[in-house]
Amino acid sequence: ETIGENLERTVARFPDREALVDRASGRRWTYAQFDEDVNRVARGLLALGVEKGDRVGIWSPNCAEWVLIQYATAKIGAILVNVNPAYRTHELAYALNQSGVRLLVSATRFKTSDYRAMVDQVRGDCSALETVIYIGTSDWDDLVARGESVPVDRLRERMARLSFDDPINIQYTSGTTGFPKGATLSHHNILNNGFFVTELLGATEQDRFCLPVPFYHCFGMVMGNLGATSHGACIVIPAPAFDPKLTLQAVQEERCTALYGVPTMFIAELTLPEFSSYDLSSLRTGILAGSPCPIEVMKRVVNEMNMHEVAICYGMTETSPVSTQTRLDDDLERRTATVGRVHPHLEVKIVDPGTGLVVPRGTPGELCTRGYSVMLGYWNEPDKTREVIDEAGWMHTGDLAVMREDGYVNIVGRIKDMVIRGGENIYPREIEEFLYTHPDIAEVQVVGVPDEKYGEELCAWIRMKEGAEPLTAEKVREFATGKLAHYKIPKYVLIVDEFPMTVTGKIRKVEMREKSVEMLG
Ligand code: ATP
Ligand code: MG
Repeated sequence: ETIGENLERTVARFPDREALVDRASGRRWTYAQFDEDVNRVARGLLALGVEKGDRVGIWSPNCAEWVLIQYATAKIGAILVNVNPAYRTHELAYALNQSGVRLLVSATRFKTSDYRAMVDQVRGDCSALETVIYIGTSDWDDLVARGESVPVDRLRERMARLSFDDPINIQYTSGTTGFPKGATLSHHNILNNGFFVTELLGATEQDRFCLPVPFYHCFGMVMGNLGATSHGACIVIPAPAFDPKLTLQAVQEERCTALYGVPTMFIAELTLPEFSSYDLSSLRTGILAGSPCPIEVMKRVVNEMNMHEVAICYGMTETSPVSTQTRLDDDLERRTATVGRVHPHLEVKIVDPGTGLVVPRGTPGELCTRGYSVMLGYWNEPDKTREVIDEAGWMHTGDLAVMREDGYVNIVGRIKDMVIRGGENIYPREIEEFLYTHPDIAEVQVVGVPDEKYGEELCAWIRMKEGAEPLTAEKVREFATGKLAHYKIPKYVLIVDEFPMTVTGKIRKVEMREKSVEMLG
């Protein structure tokens, strides 16, 4: 089944149920109306001569048009290229050229980002780029109007020529550990993954998903949008970009049953001064994913946000994305201490990165996964693809994990983030979890910094709770002595107001390492 066929099946089952709500503009669509608009846009793209396999870029904050383009391109078999809204000209030009985008759909501007000016700046350097359509201008209306002249049969013919394993999407990875890579994904990859993620949440057409996560990332467009439409659930867009207040307002006013977010988003919502004034009683479930979630935060999500059936997911762009997930009936221990167990129809194994042999349960190693979810490859980068997908089809994730006796997986960190101090392997995650138990610490991240004597030393970046006295390295040592092995106690402490982050809300530890060195002189 292709994404277009799947949408039409949902439309046939639930034509009058709400499909999409765009809170910023107040617009709403039922499934029947949504499909009609998707078809108009799809026919507009056909009128512009967009062929199967052509790359269509989307560079915009979250909005209804983003979703319409996602499904319209899927219906005509164009490959949607998700461009990160935080990109600036250099990265934009890279993404457009690397994937050969022919048509770009963009916003004019949002907050301080003047998208149109940036597009104008790079346009001359992007040889494949023929057309740019700006959302919210007459360009969009022209596109839709053009579609009217294309007979519906032409869309039907195109849809009939598509296959479920065609590439349909190029998604650039978050760029947490370096330059983003363009993962090429098929209908089969992402439609199935979106379906299973929300199937495991127990999603039905009664559900309403509040999605403050960016659509450009698989968390939004696959786990969110495809997850919703494959079950007839409703997509609620609280705002163009993450805003904790607008998110909770949307949950309250739209009676959302599910809320998605990376841990930093939930932290922002929970720490709003007026947090307790929101009515979140409609919430049942949701997803926390993308990076490790502190246990304390998870407990509050369950107990204070009413998300008793919240799930933790683990995955990566290259695997469509999710590989492991907690289940609805998991207890708090599993939901806080693990990232769940392997998804249906997928395999997961933990291997010694040196030998490639499976390690015993309880021993850390590199997590590898295999199955329908593994990407087709990095776009136009066969060598990089071969580095991560082996001949037997296993995707090597670069993440260190432990599989417990009960089959649940625990992520201990990225291979690249592991600190080796005097020959001891240290997983920053463990130190972070420990420091979170300090009553004055609001947020903490630990990285390794180069050291002549030990190779590396630990440096903790700490954001203090409001009004708390800043901690010193000495105070941290006092707090940890007797509780942590001496080599795991950070030598350096930096008190900061914020952490360098990707637009998906992930901490960029590479940048932290560089800055630590600068800040420590
Ligand atoms: P890049 O590959 O460009 O450096 P990235 O790996 O952050 O960036 P994504 O594909 O968005 O790009 O993120 C996948 C990574 O996020 C995983 O490899 C893993 O390190 C981390 N991750 C995802 N979910 C979880 C989770 N639940 N717990 C811990 N880490 C997670
Ligand atoms: Mg990655």
